[in-house]
Order: sequence, then C-alpha cells, then structure tokens
Amino acid sequence: MTTCVVTGGAGFLGSHLCEKLLAEGHRVICLDNLETGSLENIAHIRDEKFEFRHTDITEYVDIPEPVDFVYHLASPASPIDYLRLPLHTLKVGSLGTNHMLGVAKWKRARFLIASTSEVYGDPKVHPQREDYWGHVNPIGPRGVYDEAKRYAEALTMAYHRQQGVDTAIVRIFNTYGPRMRPHDGRAIPTFLRQALQDRPLTVFGEGSQTRSFCYVDDLIRGIVSLAESDVHTPVNIGNPDEFTLLELAKSVIEVTDSRSEIVFEALPTDDPQQRRPDIGRARDLLGWEPTIKLDEGLRRTIDQSGVERLVGAGD
Ligand code: NAD
Repeated sequence: MTTCVVTGGAGFLGSHLCEKLLAEGHRVICLDNLETGSLENIAHIRDEKFEFRHTDITEYVDIPEPVDFVYHLASPASPIDYLRLPLHTLKVGSLGTNHMLGVAKWKRARFLIASTSEVYGDPKVHPQREDYWGHVNPIGPRGVYDEAKRYAEALTMAYHRQQGVDTAIVRIFNTYGPRMRPHDGRAIPTFLRQALQDRPLTVFGEGSQTRSFCYVDDLIRGIVSLAESDVHTPVNIGNPDEFTLLELAKSVIEVTDSRSEIVFEALPTDDPQQRRPDIGRARDLLGWEPTIKLDEGLRRTIDQSGVERLVGAGD
C-alpha cells in the first residue's frame, strides 16, 4: 500500500483529494492547521487508512513512517483569506514548501505542489500556456499569494534540479464544488448563497472579466494523474470553457431558479481581466481533460452541499 501525505487536507480541495486517494486504496496522512480548513470537511471519512494530524507545516514537520507521495496543498487560497493573512501566506509558500520538499527528499517520495493560475498575474497572453511567464504585481495586496506561489515553484524546481527530488507542479485554475465556504469571497459560492436567498447577486466592475471554472472532481482526477506521471514541468489543470462574471451570475440564477437581480460593485485591486487555461500539455502528457459542464457542476454543488450549507451561518 502506498502512503500519501496531503498538506491542507482539511481544506476544500484537500478533503476531496484525501477521499479520492483513499478510494484508490492508498493510506492518507492529512496535515492541516485548520487555519482556513475545517474538521467538518473530513468528519465523514470513516477509513482506518486515514489519519488527521493537526500540524502547522511552517513549523518543523516530522513524519516517522515511509512516504511515497507528498501532495502539498496547504496555503490560504481565497483572496479573503490571503489578504487577511499576508505574512502567513508568504511563510507557508516559502518555509512550508521548504519543509515539505525536505520530507519528500528524505523519504524519496514524489512531491506535487498546488500552484495557481495567479502565477500568470493579469495575463497579457490569452489563453495562458505554461511557458508564459506572467505579469504579476509584486507589491500589490495580492502579491503575497502570487509571489509566494511563484517562489514555491522556483524552490520546487531547485530541489528537482539540484537535489534530484521527483517533483510535479500543478497550476490550478478556478475550481468549485461542494465544501466551498459560503463566505470565502469567491464568485461561485457568493453567487449561489445570494441566489438561494433571492438576494441581489453582486458582480464586480461591469462583469466583463472572464474566468474558467473547473468542477472539483475533474480537477482532482487531473492532480492525481499528474502525481502518478513522470512529468516535472508545470501543468495547467482547469476548464478552458470561459465565461464572463455576468454570464456566470445569469447561469447561477437559472440553475437555482432564483428571483435575484444582478447589481454591480467596484472592482477589487489587481483583479485579473481574463483567465483561461491552455490545457494542451495536460491533454498531451496526461490524456486529461475536464468532462463536467458549468450548469451540471453547479447542480451537483447544490445537491451535494445542500442549501443550508451553501447559505451558511451569519446571513
Ligand atoms: P482551502 O483554504 O480550503 O485549503 C487550504 C488548506 O490549507 C486549509 O485546510 C488550511 O487550514 C490549510 N493550511 C493553511 N496554512 C497551513 C499551514 N501553515 N499548515 C497546515 N495547513 C495549513 O483552499 P483550497 O481552495 O482547497 O486550495 C488548496 C490549494 O490549491 C492551495 O494551495 C491553493 O493555493 C490552490 N489553488 C486552489 C484554487 C481553487 O480554485 N480552489 C485555485 C488555484 C490554486
């Protein structure tokens, strides 16, 4: 049986990844400090091959047993979180990544880092291919996340080139699905929460900025397939179907059969205008592509979360 360590395993994506790895018969050690994740995300997992260890990976990390895979997902991910935790975000991307690469080196494990489409910044090339180097503002408020991830990618490649660690980099584009927090500030949970309460949907700017939304099951399949490959260069995993935020708001209203109106609010600082992955590399190297369309993914999110959880407390 192979042993997988998942950092950030009690978060949105990490909890889905833990489930998938367990379903494939692996043993899973989940490391999380519950900063933005929660035990609620993993409470339903009843499997003796699963173990949660309350750990802050920016501190010293010690894993006594042999490890085959390190999936490094721990990091604040939503703007609401990393704007609240700027120093922690930089620390987890630098020190935390260094610790986990050290574990992978010591255990001779395959290491996969969850990077992000944010490494492209507000891209000047569209759609974004992995060989585009990005257009990031290092001193803007979002710089703490974008630069932490860029640094983490550089560190990962340095461990690979200099120390021979077997590494992989997945650049994740916007992903959605059950277990997103209703108040995490990202578009889909915000629109769903508002639409399910027949409240106005708040679109930033004129809603003409675009995003590509990947359903979580598609993403997790891509991540595992990359980890199980021998690819070392970054690979985009995301859904190339591109929507404006206004189109997304309308789809959410339709799927939820809501009476909500759409209202417009000021654009946040450094909000990227366009976002769409070129997934040629994932197709060629992994035979991966997403299969779940936006309206189907929205329906699954509602069915599997339940309205109560999507609406959340405090509203
Ligand atoms: P999330 O906030 O739900 O999960 C992150 C998890 O990391 C949380 O459980 C949190 O408690 C944990 N964590 C944070 N700091 C930690 C520390 N010091 N030690 C241990 N655990 C710590 O976010 P998510 O959406 O599941 O994102 C997971 C990863 O995927 C992140 O690295 C994020 O940058 C990346 N990513 C996500 C998306 C997306 O659309 N969700 C897009 C691009 C990249």
